[in-house]
Amino acid sequence: MSSEAVISSVTIDENTKAPSSTSQDAVQKVNLLGMSRAEMEKFFEEMGEKKFRAGQVMKWIHQFFVTDFAEMTNISGKLRAKLEQICEIKAPEVVHRNYSKDGTRKWVFRVGDGDGSLVETVLIPAEDKTGSRKTLCISSQVGCALDCSFCSTGKQGFQRDLTQAEIIGQLWMANLSYMEDVPVIERERSVTNVVMMGMGEPLLNYDAVLSSMSIMLDDFAYGMSKRRVTLSTSGVVPKIDQLAQDIDVALAISLHAPNNELRNELVPINKKYPLEQLIAACQRYIGKDGNESSRKHVTIEYVMLDGVNDHPEHAQQLLKLLKNLPSKINLIPFNPFPHAPYGRSSRNRIIAFQKTLSDAGFVCTIRQTRGDDIDAACGQLVGQVADRTRRAEQWKKKIAEKSEIIRTEG
Ligand code: SAH
Ligand code: SF4
Repeated sequence: MSSEAVISSVTIDENTKAPSSTSQDAVQKVNLLGMSRAEMEKFFEEMGEKKFRAGQVMKWIHQFFVTDFAEMTNISGKLRAKLEQICEIKAPEVVHRNYSKDGTRKWVFRVGDGDGSLVETVLIPAEDKTGSRKTLCISSQVGCALDCSFCSTGKQGFQRDLTQAEIIGQLWMANLSYMEDVPVIERERSVTNVVMMGMGEPLLNYDAVLSSMSIMLDDFAYGMSKRRVTLSTSGVVPKIDQLAQDIDVALAISLHAPNNELRNELVPINKKYPLEQLIAACQRYIGKDGNESSRKHVTIEYVMLDGVNDHPEHAQQLLKLLKNLPSKINLIPFNPFPHAPYGRSSRNRIIAFQKTLSDAGFVCTIRQTRGDDIDAACGQLVGQVADRTRRAEQWKKKIAEKSEIIRTEG
């Protein structure tokens, strides 16, 4: 079979395709980086090869970080040559990297086919009683459509979904960054935890995020424990139910407000899926509705906005709201960005808020702000990302008007 014939006989998910070529003659290569095991098995079978090749190739890609088929020594020369002709292993291009003194690492990737879209990924190391962790904060979209009022990604508007290769490519690259000088056969995976808390709403890029997480959990790829892969959502209720059916990962909810009135303002998707529906979906996710689930709790994220959602009565309301939802609460000091309409709650205020929740029996932690020297806080991944959307335009106009008023008044 010729390579062209192979290509045309294979049905590959849109997400796994390499950027299309403009040349008539050039064969569009299939990017294997973003393929889940099921997709890769199908790919090999349709090529007339044995299914188990998928596991072999996945190990080379995700455990030894190989991009050259010639290095895949347990694969026959004939098959390697065929793969070389029609496939590629291609991570998104790194346009900027910054490694902080405290061990935090940040990458800016160019994604898409030349439209200038950039996304960011941050790795945050930490020591705890279980040993040392390296947590990678992964982006799922360029921008975000949901426009939470305290979020800089939301201010860019939505530009596009990331492909599977672009999502898993962030994990691949972060692991490789520790292994570049290590001989292929001695390479190991360094990232211990993944949080889908970078740019974008992961549940609105559902299929690509689901397949990418299946690669994270797959023993032929990253083999991560299901408790160490966390998806964070602002509350796309029907997709939370779908997720519960499709995969077993930890769930974090960007709650940020204990009542609908305030949450409508901070997290506008609340108008569509109000708190009662969101809490019920969380209960279903962890099997509190009587159905089986191995999941024991959800994580509640609560950004601390000075004078907005940090009053003692907000803590009381939160206690009531979470009464029947086994949850761990993570208080996130607000990360300011230029012209943000909020300030960060004071340390004392955050500690008082935490005390109310802890005294009531909740595990409540305060997120440490890390990597400040490289502007690398998770959930605050705006950087120098290009913003060409209407919302970004409106945001810029608002800022310009505001500074005009200040100038005139001054
Ligand atoms: N869209 C998803 C995941 C990305 S945001 C979600 O909303 O959950 C990841 C986390 O960072 C969310 O909890 C989000 O609310 C939080 N976040 C966004 N902007 C922030 C800021 N300026 N300061 C602190 N946390 C922020
Ligand atoms: Fe989107 Fe999450 Fe930011 Fe809200 S907090 S705008 S859902 S990325």
